[in-house]
Amino acid sequence: LKSLLKNPELLATKAYIGGQWVDGDNGTFAVTNPARGDVIAEVADLSRAQVAGAIVQAEAAQKEWAKYTGKERAAILRRWYDLMMANAEDLGRILTAEQGKPLTEAVGEIAYGASFIEFFAEEAKRIYGETIPGHQRDKRITVLKQPIGVAASITPWNFPNAMITRKAGPALAAGCAFVARPAAETPLSALVLAVLAEQAGVPAGVFNVVPSSRASEIGKEFCENPGVRKLTFTGSTEVGRILLKQAADQVMKCSMELGGNAPFIVFDDADLDAAVEGAMLCKFRNNGQTCVCANRIYVQAGVYDAFAEKLAAAVAKLNVGDGLNDGVTTGPLINAEAVEKVLEHLGDVTAKGGAVLTGGKPHALGGTFFEPTVVTGVTQEMKVAKEETFGPLAPLFKFDTVDEVIHMANDTIFGLAAYFYAKDLSRVYKVAEALEYGIVGVNTGIISTEVAPFGGIKQSGLGREGSHHGIEDYLEMKYICMSV
Ligand code: ADP
Repeated sequence: LKSLLKNPELLATKAYIGGQWVDGDNGTFAVTNPARGDVIAEVADLSRAQVAGAIVQAEAAQKEWAKYTGKERAAILRRWYDLMMANAEDLGRILTAEQGKPLTEAVGEIAYGASFIEFFAEEAKRIYGETIPGHQRDKRITVLKQPIGVAASITPWNFPNAMITRKAGPALAAGCAFVARPAAETPLSALVLAVLAEQAGVPAGVFNVVPSSRASEIGKEFCENPGVRKLTFTGSTEVGRILLKQAADQVMKCSMELGGNAPFIVFDDADLDAAVEGAMLCKFRNNGQTCVCANRIYVQAGVYDAFAEKLAAAVAKLNVGDGLNDGVTTGPLINAEAVEKVLEHLGDVTAKGGAVLTGGKPHALGGTFFEPTVVTGVTQEMKVAKEETFGPLAPLFKFDTVDEVIHMANDTIFGLAAYFYAKDLSRVYKVAEALEYGIVGVNTGIISTEVAPFGGIKQSGLGREGSHHGIEDYLEMKYICMSV
């Protein structure tokens, strides 16, 4: 991997704690390239005690960091952003090597991830409090916004850069210190952020990366250590529930970005070509491994066959392969379990009467490559209606009326992202308002941006990331009541 980088020094394999690069008490764990199956790095495997030590360092550093002016913090964050962008190609290569997504998508993720650092660098100067007219003649009321303290993060492998920057950007801007435990599949993309943070002048202890193969032990340390005042998690609803329960004992503030089960609805007045384009991006980006990927595609009866045909034709043009090769649009799945999940959902669809329109089996390339797949005749009784597939399986459901599809779309415990394509203005309003989701894409399949509040309702999560709302999750309000 080093030989692929313009600057090989970006490849860090030790943990970064209190401004020091440290070895793991538990030796190392291997990071593999999902496209080739080979080990690309051995990364420091930290013990729970080492993570506790990192929290102590973060606590001390946070007290100083909070004293910096917003402008001072902004200048450092801005340098961090500039360094990410200047090294985007190398960061992208590291990301593709450990995660599998095509290089253009990986470099795109670096720009997306960096945009949160840029945005929150700007916000650091605008953490405004409030004055409230007193309730008695002698009273003056002031509201301060102060950093929560140390924020600990647990993040998944599907966006190894952006899921961290989305949290670290607002945390550092607010004056919090940060301890990141990246997914064990993708620690290199997190560690390179530490390399660049150091170069940017982020003070020692303010941004720490603690790789460890022992996810649940580290999760317990984060929840039980009184030095941690905020837990921010992106991952499955299942693990989110565990962490929320663990965090309850300390009444810790939590942000949770959890699973989705996104409906993607095509009405009969939609621009079908635009809907196909949106569905392709929304379903097959990152090989279907995003929490906002379309999981259920509902198509109105009158355009069902035409849409299915156009979608299958577009899917047939996808080019599956190693993400580091030119022209590849679709990489491997992250691991064998991911392939199993796709096969399980696919088998369930065909057993219950659905049909494969295109794809439908592991790819001839072997490993964890899978053929991008479209299935028709899918119904609410099938597993894919209830669970996230997290893979390249596009299931097409048929519906007749607006009320029917709204009911089906909302019939889930999840509420992250939903999409629909339609032109009639009153229908657009009615459907956008009726969908029980935190994010609704209308006539677009891509909704992620640093300027908007990303997050779910129902069992898809708590809190928002991005936008001026995103920083609130890292701030406490204090009101001062003064008698004059
Ligand atoms: P995904 O399907 O994206 O891997 P998970 O929720 O399983 O979703 O994992 C998200 C992150 O949470 C990963 O970094 C994983 O290692 C970590 N994780 C899994 N189980 C636990 C746990 N019990 N406590 C803390 N972190 C966990």
